[in-house]
Amino acid sequence: MPHEKQTNTEGNTAQTTTGGLFCSLCNISPEEVLAEFQRWKLVRTKTMKGHKERLMLFHKDHVRTLDEGSIGEAYLLLMKAGSKFFSYTDKWAIFEPVYATVPDHWHRVASDLDENAHDYGQILKTPRIIIDNHGGTIFRVYPDNKSIVTSGSSK
Ligand SMILES: [Zn+2]
Repeated sequence: MPHEKQTNTEGNTAQTTTGGLFCSLCNISPEEVLAEFQRWKLVRTKTMKGHKERLMLFHKDHVRTLDEGSIGEAYLLLMKAGSKFFSYTDKWAIFEPVYATVPDHWHRVASDLDENAHDYGQILKTPRIIIDNHGGTIFRVYPDNKSIVTSGSSK
């Protein structure tokens, strides 16, 4: 049951901007939602840009910024969902929102790393976290092509 309605923009935190009235994420139809969590929604992106799979996780509220704990939760959920949705490929990535089209509403996009995808050039210019499905390794990659292993699992 939704306990908050989007119509109320008063008395909320200072992070609320113009509200979600004209926001594409706030107005996503229920049929597009692949998975719903307590504070998050997972959808397939409207534009696939040549990828077989491309996902977006966003906060249910129209907020621009989040605290570190919430961001960590979002990445964990996206990694968990992604390991299922991207099981067809070896590696996939979660992107930093440097090219985000909806900067006022917190979200993260994940896609496979198909070199033939339309946005592959942009992918290479975007700071990203690459998840290796088989090795269980997570790399953080910056556009200058330096990569750092941030975590690995022995399982
Ligand atoms: Zn919104």
